[in-house]
Amino acid sequence: MREVVIPYARQSIDETDVAAVVEVLHSDWLTQGPAIERFERVVADYVGARYACAVSNATAALHLACLALGVEPGKRVWTSPNTFLASANCGLYCGAQVDFVDVDPRTYNLSAEQLEVRLARAARENRLPHVLVTVDFAGQPCEADRIAELCRRYGVLIIDDASHAIGATWKGERVGSGRWADITVFSFHPVKILTTGEGGIALTNDAGLHRRLATLRTHGMVRDAQHMERPEEGAWYYEQQALGFNYRMSDIQAALGLSQMRRIDAFLAARRRLAARYDQLLADSGVTLPWQHPDAQSSYHLYPVQLPDAARRRAVFDGLRAAGIGVQVHYIPVHLQPYYRRLGFKEGDFPVAEAYYARALSLPMYATLTDAQQDFVVEQLLRLLRL
Ligand SMILES: *Cc1c(COP(=O)(O)O)cnc(C)c1O
Repeated sequence: MREVVIPYARQSIDETDVAAVVEVLHSDWLTQGPAIERFERVVADYVGARYACAVSNATAALHLACLALGVEPGKRVWTSPNTFLASANCGLYCGAQVDFVDVDPRTYNLSAEQLEVRLARAARENRLPHVLVTVDFAGQPCEADRIAELCRRYGVLIIDDASHAIGATWKGERVGSGRWADITVFSFHPVKILTTGEGGIALTNDAGLHRRLATLRTHGMVRDAQHMERPEEGAWYYEQQALGFNYRMSDIQAALGLSQMRRIDAFLAARRRLAARYDQLLADSGVTLPWQHPDAQSSYHLYPVQLPDAARRRAVFDGLRAAGIGVQVHYIPVHLQPYYRRLGFKEGDFPVAEAYYARALSLPMYATLTDAQQDFVVEQLLRLLRL
């Protein structure tokens, strides 16, 4: 196979990013310094959230979010099967039972209709989930208001795994504002909209939840005299009040994130322009293009298409890879992973997500993808579809 020349996703780093990182390397703080709080403030302000807690990656943010919301053994966490593993694993980390709600056949996001049916049944059987982890697949927000309404009715808390969706809006409101989710999580892995190398963040409007997130991020340690359980013993005194972790983001990462946040609107504009261009170039190709809900504005982390024929997906995928185009498939339904099969899940459990997966292909999508590269991707895809 040829070397991948056009990947499915990649970071966009310029000299201002490099200078920002170099500057922090010359400063007194490589970690636990002022860049972290500044980054938290900038991201929170951008999406309209009150509080933010920056962490080592979005998986850690999801773990902390579950813990902060009280997920524990005996409780249930539901999520979408069409997601990255971490949206489900976070429930298992806390000893909860994980289950899935099938996706909408048009958006491939967790289906609000299915959720309504499943919640009604779970209520009758006294098996309601404690937390629902929604996913804004490919950058398109889920039906946040409708899902929030259902969850409120049944007392279910919401974590929005918006790893794909910083900058996306639902009904004109930015994902992460906290209007519809208790905690929202973004990822800053290099394939996502913007990057800190590794990194993630959890946003909330609840001061108590924010304090729990921040405490669990650093070993469960408390230094604030106002929140001590026992009399303080001196200026060195701290207390471990919960079993936390070291899930901190470094100042080096936060400095990169701050620099990247200055260009977020340009990143989003570039992605949206490329998506519109794919829409146009592939309009008569026979592939099903990503459908956009009229209330959603996607951040286009991914551009996932459905090929006409599942039986030819592998040949098309291999043909594109052989042409140096790094296509991907998002996602293998999580419940079909061997680990989840051992928990009792099987083929046929979530048929919409499974049918989606069988024909799925993600085309290259990132801010610095050129029109010429995109034309080449389209030309190669059309060639392979004709074979
Ligand atoms: C990337 C991703 C994650 C994990 O992000 P990390 O920062 O790599 O831990 C979680 N959920 C979804 C949907 C993702 O795409």
